[in-house]
Amino acid sequence: MDKIHEKVWKSCLTIIKDNVSPRSFQTWFEPIAPIKLKSKVLTIQVPSQFFYEWLEEHYVELLKKTVQRELGQAGKLEYSVIIDNHHSNQKPYTVKIPTTDKKSLKNPSTTMPLDLNQNTIRNPFIIPGLKKVNVDPQLNSNYSFENFVEGDCNRLARSAGYAVASKPGGTAFNPLLIYGGVGLGKTHLANSIGIEIKKNHPNKTVLYVSSEKFTHQFIDSVKNNTQNDFIHFYQMIDVLLIDDVQFFAGKEKTQDIFFHIFNHLHQNGSQLVLTSDKPPVELQGMEQRLLSRFKWGLSADLQSPDLETRIAVLNKKMQQDGIDLPKEVVEYLAYSITTNIRELEGALISLIAQSSLNKKAITLDLAKQMIDKFVKNTAREVSIDYIQKVVCDYFNLPLELMKSKTRKREVVQARQIAMYFSKQLTKSSLATIGAHCGGKDHATVLHACRTVNNLIETDKRFRVYISDIEKKINLS
Ligand code: ADP
Ligand code: MG
Repeated sequence: MDKIHEKVWKSCLTIIKDNVSPRSFQTWFEPIAPIKLKSKVLTIQVPSQFFYEWLEEHYVELLKKTVQRELGQAGKLEYSVIIDNHHSNQKPYTVKIPTTDKKSLKNPSTTMPLDLNQNTIRNPFIIPGLKKVNVDPQLNSNYSFENFVEGDCNRLARSAGYAVASKPGGTAFNPLLIYGGVGLGKTHLANSIGIEIKKNHPNKTVLYVSSEKFTHQFIDSVKNNTQNDFIHFYQMIDVLLIDDVQFFAGKEKTQDIFFHIFNHLHQNGSQLVLTSDKPPVELQGMEQRLLSRFKWGLSADLQSPDLETRIAVLNKKMQQDGIDLPKEVVEYLAYSITTNIRELEGALISLIAQSSLNKKAITLDLAKQMIDKFVKNTAREVSIDYIQKVVCDYFNLPLELMKSKTRKREVVQARQIAMYFSKQLTKSSLATIGAHCGGKDHATVLHACRTVNNLIETDKRFRVYISDIEKKINLS
């Protein structure tokens, strides 16, 4: 017979099942184990810190309601987190979760010319107070500078952001425009700046808002005839962080109003931080006068993460989530997912979820299977870096030699094999492949491919090398 906590949890699951997608249910709820029920507190065990945070972030309301439905108003939930130690011999042990303190991210109350006696406060960011108004800064406390890994790909943007955060409105970087493709950290960095400013200057009124939200608020204000409130609201902000300004493209009225708000804030020494998925010159459908404002300060770009940054990001994430993966798995992820950090995090998340779901240790094999299954339709391909690594491992050569210009025989051959596989398995041009392999030109790469093909035909031992390496590169 089921124990009481198991029974309760079972009933909870029935309710939850009706409220989430089958996939989410499988991923996030099936791996949970009920542990005990004591004075209306149900303790559930989750596989990792990350898991706990995910539940808290996405399902806290559902969980709360469900537990209260089962146990009454006094019903509470407590988590017990397994620290993942799959591949070591240690027994899993559990930690209690402290609740996060997000108080420091509150803005001080401010006054603005807004009729608070109206029945409705129309701006969604305002929490009505007695006489004053509070602006919720809308910052995500996870996106701090501490959690932002610095690397060659983001150094300029990060340090400019940091400078702005220590002296908002007091540097030449006003506005600071951060641009870069999806998943490279724009939103994270914008939040970091806001969080750091709240730390250094608690009295500044900080607001993070997406351009989309800004646009919708503006449209609403036109509908409700509260445009003045809208403008006044934005004009009292000390640090305005506007995310994804490319969204303003083609929206003339919104650009107009933003132009005026921008000018007002800039003149008053308020700090503006903008992000965009394109550099200013490529922003189509944007008014010239606005574009020229964007260029007043500093534009800093975020580039695709280099290998070291990718590994550092994975390590950081694991440290935060209390997970410990084998080094080879981390390297495999970092070598194969090169596009952006969101993809990389996504792969790590699937991997952890998958492993706790199947109660399998996270091995290189599992990582390979998972990446194949879950991340296939995203922009993933075997990278030149990964091919080089496999070839070097196979021949027991240091990677630096492969990338150097040395003409030592065994290195030359390994390099040629890496070029050959890069040509076969990636979409990279001959020139790119050459550049990765000791700065060779495209003719050298072509020559390498021919040489390898010849040797495959004529040299039996060589053929074995090639098929061995191919197996190692291939993903299952
Ligand atoms: P963007 O806004 O450019 O599309 P995000 O800021 O949303 O990208 O970043 C995507 C994910 O990657 C987020 O979870 C973010 O925390 C993470 N991330 C991006 N850059 C870094 C970094 N340098 N260090 C740690 N995490 C990062
Ligand atoms: Mg973003």
